Amino acid sequence: MAEAGRVPLHTPLGLLAELTHRCPLGCPYCSNPLALEPRDGELDAATWARVFGEAAALGVLQVHLSGGEPGARRDLVEITAAAHDAGLYTNLITSAVGIAADTLHKLADAGLDHVQISIQDGAPESADRIAGYDGAFARKRALAAAVVGLKIPLTVNVVVHRANIDRIEAMVALALALGAGRVEVAHVQYYGWALRNRAALMPSAEQVTRAATAVERLRKRHHGEIVIDAVVPDYYARLPKPCVGGWGRRSLNVTPSGKVLPCHAAESIPGLEFWSVREHSLAEIWNSSPAFNAFRGTAWMKEPCRSCARREVDFGGCRCQAFALTGDAAATDPVCHLAPHHADVAALAAAQDDAPYAYRHM
Ligand code: SF4
Ligand code: SF4
Repeated sequence: MAEAGRVPLHTPLGLLAELTHRCPLGCPYCSNPLALEPRDGELDAATWARVFGEAAALGVLQVHLSGGEPGARRDLVEITAAAHDAGLYTNLITSAVGIAADTLHKLADAGLDHVQISIQDGAPESADRIAGYDGAFARKRALAAAVVGLKIPLTVNVVVHRANIDRIEAMVALALALGAGRVEVAHVQYYGWALRNRAALMPSAEQVTRAATAVERLRKRHHGEIVIDAVVPDYYARLPKPCVGGWGRRSLNVTPSGKVLPCHAAESIPGLEFWSVREHSLAEIWNSSPAFNAFRGTAWMKEPCRSCARREVDFGGCRCQAFALTGDAAATDPVCHLAPHHADVAALAAAQDDAPYAYRHM
């Protein structure tokens, strides 16, 4: 583990504000933890306002208002206004279920800068089945139209897995039809609820190859119309991604009850001590929290990362994934082809089944 104080601190740029874990949907790939935080433990709007002010003072530029479903908060408009008043660029990440048209108007008046709506598939029946919520698809269409009508920039998030990865073209067409300027094609990350459903969600190698070809074709076809972001899914990659831009380097995640995490899945690593905004300022947490200092810099690394030329490029990959796949959070992310456990990843990717989804419900 890194020695606090010896690693130069960077300025955090983004804050993920998980306003609540409540959500009407039940996505089997949800990255929320298995132990969801209850409503009566959620931070109130005044505390969020203080946190946003401290974030801005620390150098944070953007706040992502997320969940769960942030629309489950009755004080979402007040919270959004506080983020805007703190000088932060405000991005609402929503399932669209639970944000009424009049609420959206109030959010716009409160200074909301950007909206991201997740869609589960290009066709209503399949989309609602994956979300575990009848009628979700129709509500997404309606909210997207309202967002575009208010001239708020819209991004569509598409989480792909075995059941929908062959329909990327249809989902990009839907994003275009909705008026989005950007579509993020994200593969399921196997933490939290998603880890429980891994075998049922895992795409085949052939599907991943077809999807990459489809993305390239769509990028050419729609150049100048929509930006398409997509990366190779972890279990089929040769090199890991620089998870969260490096641990404790560029972002913070505040849970509904106020715990501050270096990444949204960090609670899956046992033994880390997370400080709360209820007891500490955000600056104290960024500088001194044991969880933030646990994997900063490179001193905590083992071989092959420790002597690798890419150690300050990808930071050894994802700590949560290293722990999930090896039981050691300081191990090289097994996604890396140089990692001793790399062969295990291929075996897990091949372990697919058609078991019914375990939907995520509180
Ligand atoms: S992934 Fe699905 S269930 Fe999880 S918070 Fe988002 S919309 Fe809700
Ligand atoms: S050995 Fe470590 S630092 Fe090198 S490429 Fe693999 S994960 Fe990255």
